[in-house]
Amino acid sequence: MKSILVLSSVVALAAAGTIDITKYPPLDQQAPPIPGINASYDFSKVPAIPVKGWNAAGGYAICPSTADAISWCSLPCAQGSGCDATRKDIISSCPTKGDWAMTFDDGPSNNTVPLLDLLDKLNLKATFCLVGSRVVERPDLVQRMFDSGHQLCVHTWSHRVLPTMTSDVVISELEYCARAIQDITGTRPTYMRPPTGDTDDRVRGISAAMGFKTLLWDHDTFDWEGVSLYPNALWPQWIQNNFTQWIKDPSLTKGPISLEHDVYTMPAAAALLTVPLVNQAGFKIKTAGECLSDMRVYQNQSYLLPPSGVAGGKLTVSTASASSAPAPGASATAGANKPSSSSRIAPASFVAAIVAAVAALVF
Ligand SMILES: [Zn+2]
Repeated sequence: MKSILVLSSVVALAAAGTIDITKYPPLDQQAPPIPGINASYDFSKVPAIPVKGWNAAGGYAICPSTADAISWCSLPCAQGSGCDATRKDIISSCPTKGDWAMTFDDGPSNNTVPLLDLLDKLNLKATFCLVGSRVVERPDLVQRMFDSGHQLCVHTWSHRVLPTMTSDVVISELEYCARAIQDITGTRPTYMRPPTGDTDDRVRGISAAMGFKTLLWDHDTFDWEGVSLYPNALWPQWIQNNFTQWIKDPSLTKGPISLEHDVYTMPAAAALLTVPLVNQAGFKIKTAGECLSDMRVYQNQSYLLPPSGVAGGKLTVSTASASSAPAPGASATAGANKPSSSSRIAPASFVAAIVAAVAALVF
């Protein structure tokens, strides 16, 4: 979830891909305002909520005072604010018990490839919330995700915390990411995920005006925190143990939406174990759209997601009339176990364990 800077060989990859990167801002830099963009959307209903301050130490926008809490409704600040009951436009869980939407953020990257291979072999569909700066680096992987019927989701151009940005920057951060996905796939997603889960009524108003529903989560692996705090080693068992507990949780009344990150090496490797865990526990792994009964998750509504679990499922084109998504209530009740020092294992050992475990479990 933290701001991510991935240095990469963008020139070579993009030159061989299907996107003209000269039309985009520099990678991982705040997207500049786009002249004239306001004429493309109706922002008249966006509430005039002040730009939030920045909590550099916490990596989030500064949480509001009690009086302002109701306008906020972000994941880091929402608990106790009452916004769960009042903001039905925030999606954080699947309405049906037994469903499970696995979501992967901040990619794509080379680390995404084994995960896509696994999902394809199992005929499972996931949701990928893409950072525009990564999208232009790997148009091949974006196209593969799209063609395979995974759900693509906008996760901004440079992973800025949106409530701390002026509205013209929020717009350009969303627009450049959506444009990059559209340049590659021919259409734009209808879901966005705010970086770090930070949003407020202003950001959601802008997002809605641009055609995006706000997708959060209710099961956070905190894999991002492991990467942030321990860049040379992660506690991968922490991620696996969380899923082991979650799949046995008797208190589940809805379908989880879990958060992992495929941009980092260790979390992406851990995902190769978490997918089989959820699958073999009997949950129906679906895209966020499918669990919400919304198979038309692109602004070109003729594109129809395939149902998960169907062999050979690919994106299809339908001429049937468009459906609309339900708007489940928000429930930002992330819970996870933090790692203990005794659970630490070396990255090399973990990678070897992953390779062996996946070979034994899946194929
Ligand atoms: Zn993120």
